[in-house]
Amino acid sequence: MGDLKLNHSVENGSASMLNPLDHEEFRRQGHMVIDFLADYYQNIETYPVRSQVEPGYLQERLPQSAPLNPEPIETILKDVQKHIIPGITHWQSPNFFAYFSACGSIAGFLGEMLSTGFNIVGFNWVASPAATELESIVMDWLGKMLKLPSSFLFSGGGGGVMYASTSEAFLCTLTAIRDQKLSVIGRENLGKLVVYCSDQTHFSLKKSVQIAGISPENVRPILTSKSDDFQLCPESLRLAIISDLEAGLIPLYLCCTVGTTSSTAVDPLGPLCDVAKEYRIWVPVDAAYAGSACICPEFRHFLDGIEGANSLSFNAHKWLLTTLDCCCLWVKDPSALINALSTNAEILKNKATEAKQVVDYKDWQMALGRRFRALKLWLVLRSYGVARIRDFLRGHVEMAKHFEMLLAADKRFEVVFPTNFATVGFRVSPSAIPNGEDVNAFNQNLLESINASGGAHMVHAVVGGVCDPTSGALDTEFCS
Ligand SMILES: *Cc1c(COP(=O)(O)O)cnc(C)c1O
Repeated sequence: MGDLKLNHSVENGSASMLNPLDHEEFRRQGHMVIDFLADYYQNIETYPVRSQVEPGYLQERLPQSAPLNPEPIETILKDVQKHIIPGITHWQSPNFFAYFSACGSIAGFLGEMLSTGFNIVGFNWVASPAATELESIVMDWLGKMLKLPSSFLFSGGGGGVMYASTSEAFLCTLTAIRDQKLSVIGRENLGKLVVYCSDQTHFSLKKSVQIAGISPENVRPILTSKSDDFQLCPESLRLAIISDLEAGLIPLYLCCTVGTTSSTAVDPLGPLCDVAKEYRIWVPVDAAYAGSACICPEFRHFLDGIEGANSLSFNAHKWLLTTLDCCCLWVKDPSALINALSTNAEILKNKATEAKQVVDYKDWQMALGRRFRALKLWLVLRSYGVARIRDFLRGHVEMAKHFEMLLAADKRFEVVFPTNFATVGFRVSPSAIPNGEDVNAFNQNLLESINASGGAHMVHAVVGGVCDPTSGALDTEFCS
C-alpha cells in the first residue's frame, strides 16, 4: 500500500518513511481493486477465452527496469487492463471448458482476502493458534461431508492437512512410507522400492517419485483398456507385484485415482486395497478433481473401499468453490508423515509443542512457512452450506449428462468414455470425416480452430491408444 500522499521522491531521502500498511490508503486502494475485479467479471465474456498473445508479448510492452519512484494505483490498474488482461486465459469465463474447472466463488475469494489480509505465517500452533485449529476443524468437517471412516479424522486418530497441490500430497505421503519402509529394511535398499499406478495416473506422480529419490525405472504404470473403462485392474496389479518380488524388488506405494485426468476413470478401490494390504503397500487415493462430487450421497459410491486406503487427497480449488490453492489430504497415520517431515529448531521451541497438546503443521509438509488456507474453505462451507454446494455440483453433472445425451443422439459425434462426473470426452466420429482424412488430425484441427476463435476453450486428451484392443489407432478427443 504505497503512500501516495508523499510528495517527495523517495530518492532524495527527505520523505517520511513509507508506511506500507497505512489503513486509510488500504481502504481506498482496496475498494478500487474490488471495483476493478467486479468490472472484470461483468465483462469477462467480451474477452477471448484463451489468450491470443504471442510468446514474449509483454517484454515488448513493459519498461526494461522497475520504476524508481512511486506510481499511483490508478495508473497501475490501467496497465493491468491494457497489458495484463490480454495475456490472461480466462479460467473463470463461462466459456472455459479446458482441463478441469477452477471454480471460484465470492466466498472463496473473500476468504482468500482475509487470509492474505492477516498475512500470518502459521508454521506451528503457537505462531497463530487459529490457523492450526481451524484447519483441523475444517478438515474434520470435510471428512464427515465425504463420509470418510473415522480413522481418517482427528477425532478417530487420523487427521487432515491443507497443501498447495496434489503433487505435494504425493511427495509427502511417498516420503512418509519410503522412510517407514527403509527404517525396517535399511536405507541401502532405496533402489529396490517400487511404485504402482495405472497408465491413466496423473503425471505429477512421476515427479514426486523422482524427487523422493526412487528410481524412475521402478514405476509401474499398469495398462488399462477402453473395455474396462480405463480402470486399474487388481489382477494386473497382482501380476506386476509378483513379478517384482521375484526380481528381488520391494513394493511400496500404489496410487489409485478417483476421476483420472484424461478419462475421469474410477479405480476399484476395495479390490485394489485388498491386494495392496497383502503386500503392505501404502495406498494413496488421488481424487483431485472428482473428490468434491463425493460429498453428494448419490456420488459417494465412487469412494467405496476407501477404508482400505492409507490416504486420500482432493483439490478443493478445482470444483469446491475455493480459489487456488487448496489441496486437502487425510491420512490414517499422521505419525508416518511426522516422522519423515518434522524438524526442530531452538527458535521454534514452545510449551504447547513440548506438552504434545497441539498439531504443528510444519511437520506435515515440506515447507516451514504456510498459508492460512482453512479460512477460505471455512468461508465457502459457511456461506453456501453443504446442501447448496451439493446442488451446485449436481447441476454440473446434470449439464454434462445432458450434453453427453445430445452427442449420443447425433451421428456426427462419438462419446469416448463414460461421463462419470462433469467432464465429457468426445470426438467427431470417423464415419463423419471425409474419406482419406486422418481422424486424429481432423479432430485436432477442429479443436485448434475453436480455441483460436476465442469463443470457447477446450483441451484434448489421448486415451485408449496402444493398450486398447478394440481400436487400432489412438483416439484423440476433446474434453469439456
Ligand atoms: C489436477 C490433478 C492433479 C494435479 O494436481 P496439482 O494440484 O496441480 O498438483 C493430480 N491428479 C489428478 C487426478 C488431477 O485431476
